[in-house]
Amino acid sequence: MFRRMKPIHVIGGGLAGSEAAWQIVGRGVPVVLHEMRPVRGTDAHKTDRLAELVCSNSFRSDDRETNAVGLLHEELRRADSLIMRKGDAHQVPAGGALAVDREGFAAAVTEALAAQRLVTIERGEIAGLPPEDWDSVIVATGPLTSPALSDAIRALTGEDSLAFFDAIAPIVHFESIDMDIAWFQSRYDKAGPGGTGADYVNCPMTREEYEAFVDALIAGEKTEFKEWEKTPYFDGCLPIEVMAERGRETLRHGPMKPFGLTNPRKPGEKPYAVVQLRQDNALGTLYNMVGFQTKLKYGAQADVFRMIPALGDAQFARLGGLHRNTFLNSPKLLDPTLRLKAMPRLRFAGQITGCEGYVESAAIGLLAGRFATAERLAEDMRPPPATTAFGALLGHITGGHLSADEPGRRSFQPMNVNFGLFPPVQVPRVAGQKLRGPDKALQKKRAISARALADLEGWLSASTAEAAE
Ligand SMILES: Cc1cc2nc3c(=O)[nH]c(=O)nc-3n(C[C@H](O)[C@H](O)[C@H](O)COP(=O)(O)OP(=O)(O)OC[C@H]3O[C@@H](n4cnc5c(N)ncnc54)[C@H](O)[C@@H]3O)c2cc1C
Repeated sequence: MFRRMKPIHVIGGGLAGSEAAWQIVGRGVPVVLHEMRPVRGTDAHKTDRLAELVCSNSFRSDDRETNAVGLLHEELRRADSLIMRKGDAHQVPAGGALAVDREGFAAAVTEALAAQRLVTIERGEIAGLPPEDWDSVIVATGPLTSPALSDAIRALTGEDSLAFFDAIAPIVHFESIDMDIAWFQSRYDKAGPGGTGADYVNCPMTREEYEAFVDALIAGEKTEFKEWEKTPYFDGCLPIEVMAERGRETLRHGPMKPFGLTNPRKPGEKPYAVVQLRQDNALGTLYNMVGFQTKLKYGAQADVFRMIPALGDAQFARLGGLHRNTFLNSPKLLDPTLRLKAMPRLRFAGQITGCEGYVESAAIGLLAGRFATAERLAEDMRPPPATTAFGALLGHITGGHLSADEPGRRSFQPMNVNFGLFPPVQVPRVAGQKLRGPDKALQKKRAISARALADLEGWLSASTAEAAE
């Protein structure tokens, strides 16, 4: 007798949940998609549509050769992404970026899923842990996960496991730091657990440089908090410009303190202030500016931070920010296929896992959908290679970040996809010449992208072969 396969439940019909549901039904597995709107709203969504874009209508650069998010677009397209298919179909002119007509896009995603025989869309909040007979669940409830569900997740995983705000310090590509000015040293040369005594990159400043920097911070254009973002959670992580406003010396006694640090090039001369950067990913390609969370606008941040002499040519993998954002301490809590170690029937996807952005959320939704489907069909769940944009992003979430287990310090912060997350690549010589500067950077991006797309093909065809068996 024919027995209907048990459905996979997807909670949250945003960018990640919609993509996950599409991937699952694409393999003939039924899905129940639970979306709480319009029964219950969020502070940012305005409609009852699936995949609503809450702010900008841009999926950012569509350049697949030299931009990491453009590469992720291409990988999504090749993996039959619904979000990219409808994004492409509802494109509006935006130069090199892929921007979409938000109404048409969300309506098309909603219609495509509603038209699937194997998809059931249930409107209503899942206000706690899912019932036990839901044996495969993808939680894709996003940065504004409803409090009843986030409380239940926190009760299950522990007090320290879920953040409600991100406090993001800018992250710099290591190769763009001027190491003729900066030096490696830990404060007082302390090795600590797992350190070497020379773990931080130290960027010195003279008194004049510090004074000009403080003036620029205070004058810089800021982003305002929205009413619903104003909460006491910010007390422990003040934006640096607020610290600067509290007194001209405050930063010099806080994140810019020079004590316990000696410039090996000028051992007799104490720097007036020091900005420290700490390694951010296992590859050592990215460093974060310690204690530099900020609400300065992006343009102002780049200008002001490049006033720090060793960062004069800094390339930022991401700029700083403070937002309302619910996200897990994923490197500690999730396994390599996004399952919650404490309750493996729950898988997480989208921004709640610690990726950032519409496209990244859709990509993690795609992977979660594919992993859950493979599990349901008792197939091999092979994660994508680390050299692909999918794999690089998944690595940031489930493994690549340092200090996930360090007691008392939550250092894992959400991140957009960027080339600093990929394993290094050999830059090909052009006509036997070693490239330098911007030419080298461009060739490096091209080489990473070409390698990613080649390796993606292998992964996709292995998944297809598995499905055909
Ligand atoms: C104010 C704001 C502005 C942003 N601006 C941008 C931007 O300009 N560009 C960009 O790339 N990214 C932006 N982001 C990030 C953006 O939210 C994510 O990139 C993306 O929407 C996340 O996708 P997601 O699927 O994880 O979550 P979402 O798209 O938010 O989807 C989650 C869904 O889950 C539903 N839900 C929540 N709790 C429950 C529950 N208990 N039961 C059932 N359903 C539930 C919600 O209603 C929602 O539909 C912004 C985020 C915020 C909060």
